[in-house]
Amino acid sequence: MSRVNAEIMEGLNAYFQVARDIGAAKDALGLPHYDASRESAMLDELLSTNPGPMPDDLLRRIFNEIFRSSVDVMDRAGQTRMRVSRVAGGPGRTVMVGNVRLGGGAPPEIIAGPCAVEGEDMLEATAARLAGHGVRLLRGGAFKPRTSPYSFQGLGAPGLSMLRRAADAHGMAVVTEVVSDGDVELVARHADMLQVGTRNMYNYALLKALGRAGRPVLLKRSFMATMDEFLWAAEYIATSGNEDIVLCERGIRTFERATRNTLDLAAVALLKQATPLPVVVDLSHSLGRKDIVAPMAAAALAAGADGLMFEAHYRPSVALCDCDQQLDPGETDALIAYVRGLIPFLGAARGAA
Ligand code: PEP
Ligand code: MN
Repeated sequence: MSRVNAEIMEGLNAYFQVARDIGAAKDALGLPHYDASRESAMLDELLSTNPGPMPDDLLRRIFNEIFRSSVDVMDRAGQTRMRVSRVAGGPGRTVMVGNVRLGGGAPPEIIAGPCAVEGEDMLEATAARLAGHGVRLLRGGAFKPRTSPYSFQGLGAPGLSMLRRAADAHGMAVVTEVVSDGDVELVARHADMLQVGTRNMYNYALLKALGRAGRPVLLKRSFMATMDEFLWAAEYIATSGNEDIVLCERGIRTFERATRNTLDLAAVALLKQATPLPVVVDLSHSLGRKDIVAPMAAAALAAGADGLMFEAHYRPSVALCDCDQQLDPGETDALIAYVRGLIPFLGAARGAA
């Protein structure tokens, strides 16, 4: 059997070498890699000459797999590893947002600000308060992906300018969402980091455009995504030319209604093993409530999070969206003080950097 295995392996390697050469030749001619009629002709030829004892349906299954794999080999031109996967024992990736380091063993950062940019004064008041605590990453939506088309959709371009002014006034960097590939250039002109929202994690045109944006990306996990799908979304951005990606766990939809979503902290620990990319946790959209942000912040940091995101508003009761989860100034002060107090004790509790 060992001899036959060796012959099969030799044959398969010869096959994939030919597949690679054909892939390169097709690339040179601009032809697609997959050719259904050629594959079905090859399969018919094999079936008509199968001497047995291998049954035809098994032959069909095995060669289908070989044909599919050969297209994979052509498509990936010899690249067998995801760009976003961690080489065992390899270092974490540091992503620079303006002059702020995220990941790669840097102390956890805080990303905070209102859900949406609603006006200059509110943004300025919130940014000033956060900057006073040493928070260096200001968030806020100028383009808001709302579930209802009748809900506040954000201020758009004027909101971006407000974000830029407030951040510049306080030495902060801007993190804000881009909802469509057509807006990437505009948002990249104002922001230091481009956010992909949970509803857009599967928007492959947007992910590809972000590969060419020249700005780091904060990729939020879809509330429906498995970890694999999340990593494949990151791979889209990476393979389109941008490996400065920060993953954001923001809760997934489960049957539980006590929190807005279910914060998947196991995913944080597992993502830290699976990829060198920094991972941050959005406490606001995962929980949808404020009374447990402190323990969940501690848990997120213990799980290895490189940063925490939360929504902060100078007066949440009048906010145009997410009133129940935005922290008021007093709550913001308390959470930041709590998180800062934890940081010196994190070392031993955390796994991979
Ligand atoms: C946000 O962070 O502003 C936001 C809309 O979050 P999510 O996409 O996770 O719902
Ligand atoms: Mn929000």
